[in-house]
Amino acid sequence: MMASWNGVIGYYRKFLPVTERTPVVTLQEGNTPLIHAKRLAAHICPGCELYIKVEGSNPTGSFKDRGMTLAVSKSLENGAKAIMCASTGNTSASAAAYGAKAGLPVYVLVPAGNIALGKLAQAIMHGAIVVQVEGNFDQALNIVKELCQEYDYELVNSINPFRLEGQKTAAMEVCDQLGFAPTYHVLPVGNAGNITAYWKGYQEYFSAGQISTLPKMMGIQAEGAAPLVKGMVIEHPQTIASAIRIGNPASWHGALEAVRASDGVIEMVTDEEILDAYRLVAREEGIFCEPASAASLAGVRKLYSAGCLTTGGTVVCTLTGHGLKDPDTAIGICAPPLRVNATRDDVMAALER
Ligand SMILES: *Cc1c(COP(=O)(O)O)cnc(C)c1O
Repeated sequence: MMASWNGVIGYYRKFLPVTERTPVVTLQEGNTPLIHAKRLAAHICPGCELYIKVEGSNPTGSFKDRGMTLAVSKSLENGAKAIMCASTGNTSASAAAYGAKAGLPVYVLVPAGNIALGKLAQAIMHGAIVVQVEGNFDQALNIVKELCQEYDYELVNSINPFRLEGQKTAAMEVCDQLGFAPTYHVLPVGNAGNITAYWKGYQEYFSAGQISTLPKMMGIQAEGAAPLVKGMVIEHPQTIASAIRIGNPASWHGALEAVRASDGVIEMVTDEEILDAYRLVAREEGIFCEPASAASLAGVRKLYSAGCLTTGGTVVCTLTGHGLKDPDTAIGICAPPLRVNATRDDVMAALER
């Protein structure tokens, strides 16, 4: 793939709703690593073949770029005056970058005080107009929907169907990298667009004869923000995993349909389980993801313990975003480095502690 890689629209064009007239706005997203995680598997699912799809390796550090390349390209094609979104952080970072590349103004609503530092830095740095709303994600999204109906702004949240079209390429890429479809695909679920998109991607690859089996889709929510598991809207979602702190997912139906049709599951994990997995994957595999991403690994561990994953099966786990986006959480759970006098002996003493 490497030599001529020019982003997901370039590579998966025939599966996407674009024509020769679509102006392609790309930062060469996609083609992310799929890493065989043997050391981590020994801890969380011994006997399974565990692979990690490292979506933090996308240009703005999350899978949102796959959908944003398409959503922004289509916005440009359709003559939008600006793009707009509500965001827990990564959508705004991605919209800001792709909007900049397209030369379109970007308007972003984020929940006040609830957004990881790196994501806010990205949105501001790329020149988006960022408004912090005294409320949660769900409230911000409702306002965005209203404004986009009234004005000529293109809404680029995952209720924009082009977002999911772009994001489905991750499933196709997994199949291209493995050479077959996994037995299980596990991913964190917030607004539930991504699990919906992956399932669409797997189904389309199956229909096109590119794969001969379909994976079971396993969606993982955080316990304090688990509307799909609990079967009800959560008014005040709470979790350390801010990217999945969503109480009323836009793609509710799509997620449950993916789980039902694939004979998968929707499960939840505690913040403590999320943070354990977050630290473990960094230490055992050298992969730094954000807390929400680690929900998928915590889910693997829980499902394995419950006997829901057969040994010998291939488990692909999506790590949705890069750990550098949220350094505060990482620093908060690790011991600070020791500080010593500048002598050989003091340094040696510190190393042996
Ligand atoms: C957006 C996001 C999610 C949740 O994806 P949905 O499509 O909203 O379910 C999970 N992790 C990260 C890092 C994200 O940015």
